[in-house]
Amino acid sequence: MKNWNVETTCVQGGYRPGNGEPRQVPIVQSTTFKYDTSEDMAKLFDLEASGYFYTRLQNPTNDLVAAKIAALEGGTAGMLTSSGQAANFFAIFNIANSGDHVVSSSSIYGGTFNLFNVTMRKMGIEFTFVSPDCTPEELEAAFRPNTKAVFGESIANPALTVLDFEKFARAAHAHGVPLIVDNTFPTPVNCRPIEFGVDIVTHSTTKYMDGHGTAVGGAIVDSGKFDWMAHADKFPGLTTPDESYHGITYAEKFGLAGAFITKCTAQLMRDFGSIQSPQNAFYLNLGLESLHVRMAQHCKNGLALAKLLANDPRVESVSYPGLPGDRYYETARKYMPNGTCGVVSFCLKDGREAAEEFMKHLKVFAIETHVADARSCCLHPASSTHRQLTEEELIACGVPGSLIRMSCGLEGTEDLLADVQNALDAI
Ligand SMILES: *Cc1c(COP(=O)(O)O)cnc(C)c1O
Repeated sequence: MKNWNVETTCVQGGYRPGNGEPRQVPIVQSTTFKYDTSEDMAKLFDLEASGYFYTRLQNPTNDLVAAKIAALEGGTAGMLTSSGQAANFFAIFNIANSGDHVVSSSSIYGGTFNLFNVTMRKMGIEFTFVSPDCTPEELEAAFRPNTKAVFGESIANPALTVLDFEKFARAAHAHGVPLIVDNTFPTPVNCRPIEFGVDIVTHSTTKYMDGHGTAVGGAIVDSGKFDWMAHADKFPGLTTPDESYHGITYAEKFGLAGAFITKCTAQLMRDFGSIQSPQNAFYLNLGLESLHVRMAQHCKNGLALAKLLANDPRVESVSYPGLPGDRYYETARKYMPNGTCGVVSFCLKDGREAAEEFMKHLKVFAIETHVADARSCCLHPASSTHRQLTEEELIACGVPGSLIRMSCGLEGTEDLLADVQNALDAI
């Protein structure tokens, strides 16, 4: 399966049915699994054999879908989680504990920012936020002796900044820590961060991967490239014996390819239980089967809308990394040459009231707290997801009061453009 291209992997990756077995990924809707002897089961509990015993830890349906996502990203191992929030929490908490520190891009999803800045701080993990556009010197200055990871989003939701993977990877590796990237917006169809030095990739599969607004979910993929043993003192959880598993040392027993995901499953999934249901993994897989076809249409619609907005005199600014002239156009060309995503954000010259008025006149785009869906939708962050923030805080996180986030779905391009044109004319 290694040599398949992205299209074939979307359709057939992860699952190779045997003779007479179901063609579609079977939904193993079972919490538990039967064994002939207690010794057989003991081997599983000791991580001496691989297999299933309880769905909170692992389930065959989830594993097949995770394997497909890992193959799409070019990683060595993957796991599903109940949500994108759980994926980002696990990816960091697997290597950073109380007393540790993480460097993060400031341009990230609001829910992730809150997870880091409020909840994980309460757990004793400190975060330093840096602009994705920081100089190498500014990035360097953010590190501390107890830094354990660097985090960013390939295309940030909702600011649509594009992360310079090589700049962030160079800094992370110089300090002996991995770079973790949330690749939700471009998806592995358009961007494969591991090829540019990223060590661990996360996803909110709720967005384009599912793509139909059916199932909340997340995923984590390990590149298998980060050498935990070479920085053993920083990552004792991977490089010293785990007493809760009879003294297994993950980095020794599972090697570069498997240590991170095995530890994450064996410890964090065991203890926090943020599993994706097998039924939702099945829906996710249906979405993945057409991801490569859908992304092209999302991008086509996104670019057409960005062009229309950029040429309208009532529009103050447009952000779309696929639009020539956009601040991140060149970075996007380098890391995602085939396209970016279907999300476009823009500000109206007449500010916040005009933004709210504009949205009232849309008929195809629906007002929703969602993005990256087959159906076009839009959101005014200042009056919804970001409404706790002051005007100054809104500007600091790249979401001014007049900003509207449009998520172009899979509808016909002309209908989407006509809808936006009509709403612009109505304000
Ligand atoms: C939505 C989103 C998340 C959170 O994912 P959920 O599945 O809603 O928990 C994380 N990162 C990005 C970039 C997102 O867009």
